[in-house]
Amino acid sequence: MCEIPKVMKSLISIVVPCYNEAGCLPAFLDRAQAILDRIPGIDYEILAINDGSTDQTASVLETMQTRSPRLGVIQFVRNFGHQAALSAGLSHARGDAVICMDADLQHPPELLPEMIGRWQQGFDIVQTVRRSQPGLAKSFSSRAFYSVLNLFSEVEITDGAADFRLMSRRAVDALMALPEHTRFIRGLVAWLGFPCATLQFDAPERHAGRSAYGIKKMFGMALDAMVTLSARPLHLALWIAAFVLVSAFVYAVYIIDLSAHGVALVRGWTSTILLILVMGSVNLLCTGILGLYLRAALVEVRKRPDYLISSYIPPGHRSFESATLHKTSDERDSQNFAVRKVQI
Ligand code: UDP
Ligand code: MG
Repeated sequence: MCEIPKVMKSLISIVVPCYNEAGCLPAFLDRAQAILDRIPGIDYEILAINDGSTDQTASVLETMQTRSPRLGVIQFVRNFGHQAALSAGLSHARGDAVICMDADLQHPPELLPEMIGRWQQGFDIVQTVRRSQPGLAKSFSSRAFYSVLNLFSEVEITDGAADFRLMSRRAVDALMALPEHTRFIRGLVAWLGFPCATLQFDAPERHAGRSAYGIKKMFGMALDAMVTLSARPLHLALWIAAFVLVSAFVYAVYIIDLSAHGVALVRGWTSTILLILVMGSVNLLCTGILGLYLRAALVEVRKRPDYLISSYIPPGHRSFESATLHKTSDERDSQNFAVRKVQI
């Protein structure tokens, strides 16, 4: 008697970075799981990365994990930042497609079926774009962030392109194979250039808690992103230097001509001070730009791991715990428990 072949279900991994999200996680998991359970033809896992939270996030995740065999939890030793948490999730995800989304319900789980549908149509990347978001200050800082970034970036990053995106397995593997340590994932995904579908959404208010991204953090991230994605600021420094050089030459010809014609040059305190100020600022600006690239190069050369994991409990393995040291490029070896164990 011939056996009916089993229809293989696709595995979808949901990667959720969490920093002080104790107030959001129960609602997030309930809502996301209710929606994922109803999507036909898929199986799923949810990987929560606790990025050194100082609230009850760790214990909330522990409790949730005893109830949900689909939930895996990665605990960082300390706070390494959103992008590092995303990297850890991406390198541990086993799915045929991986969806990254925030824990605060600002990325509506209701969009998941459509995202998966677009992937099933053949798109490697399904990028969501925020049409609107609450809070004038946040909208303004976000717009400023993308304007500055796109001014200097060599790859176009859509205004409002959130870290709420689906990536196919081949896109995730290509991303994780990139050797750099400072990762601005939005930019790197744009750089990969895989076929991409776009979905718009309106971001609601945070479910609970406060945003971890103030103006200062956004500015720091914009600088990191600019330096890691592009050499345009260096070109800008060169153009400014060239402009100042030509202006200085023209001015030199002018004052030499004046003195050749016997015009007394003792006056001119204002122009002297102006020159000192302009030259000083241009010098500082160019040195600052160089310094940013030097720092970025230092980070790459030092090869420190992007994050340290204190424990990883995969979905359905509530009892497995270990102290492990991971690096982004460590492949997804921890799924086989062949983890490189290093005592911290
Ligand atoms: N996040 C993180 N590490 C951090 C800061 C934030 O893992 O150092 C997570 C946070 O828990 C959330 C996502 O990154 O799931 C986005 O952060 P947030 O909501 O604070 O940023 P916003 O939406 O205000 O830009
Ligand atoms: Mg948020």
